[in-house]
Amino acid sequence: MDEPGSWQTPKNILVILAHPDDPEFFCGATLARWSRAGHKITYFLLTCGDKGYNETTRPETMSSDELCAVRHREQLAAATAIGAQGVHFLDRPDGYLVPDMELRREVVRIIRRLKPDVLVTCDPQTVFAAYGINHPDHRAAGQVVLDAVFPAAGNAAYFPELLVEGWQPHMPKEIWCSLTNEPTVTLDVTETWPVKLDALLHHKTQIGDVDKFKLRMRSRHTDDSTDENPRFEEKFRVVRYD
Ligand SMILES: [Zn+2]
Repeated sequence: MDEPGSWQTPKNILVILAHPDDPEFFCGATLARWSRAGHKITYFLLTCGDKGYNETTRPETMSSDELCAVRHREQLAAATAIGAQGVHFLDRPDGYLVPDMELRREVVRIIRRLKPDVLVTCDPQTVFAAYGINHPDHRAAGQVVLDAVFPAAGNAAYFPELLVEGWQPHMPKEIWCSLTNEPTVTLDVTETWPVKLDALLHHKTQIGDVDKFKLRMRSRHTDDSTDENPRFEEKFRVVRYD
């Protein structure tokens, strides 16, 4: 079996998360490392992120439709920086995501359409994060993805209407949950940490003061490294079906 995340053959990797910027914030350095290793990365984002703003994009100066359009553009630029080859937007309203049966069907459809070897999402069990309460959309995204993977995506008896559309059952081999308090895999991503930072800087509506942001990101080095000689990690809870 390959070392986790170091596959010998090119993999088709699908990232399903709630908001534009989640892929970069949660696991951007890992995705950059994988794209540079020759794996194909595609994003499927469930909401438009139309309620996520900072001091420059307050609701009184920008409608949610305008913010949605800006966030699409920011996400496309960030995904290009990471090396992702495609971005799909489902554009559900930000902040109201619920892991219901309709959303599960959408996720099963994209899994069967794109046939990923590896699926990346976030851990739905993370209620409390280092910065406080985890966003409910993040939990909903993680939950609906896991529910779609098992037992629905690989079983033709689930959502037979998708068979009529031509989408055959497909089961990913590995599920990588970012934003977890119970990691099973830790990757050293020091080499591609600058790519993550560059990509994140495209999300101008989210990061506010650039210098403060860079400082904050730089301080996220591991405890065994220093500001002068930092080392960075990203952690995942991984389920593998071999
Ligand atoms: Zn988010």
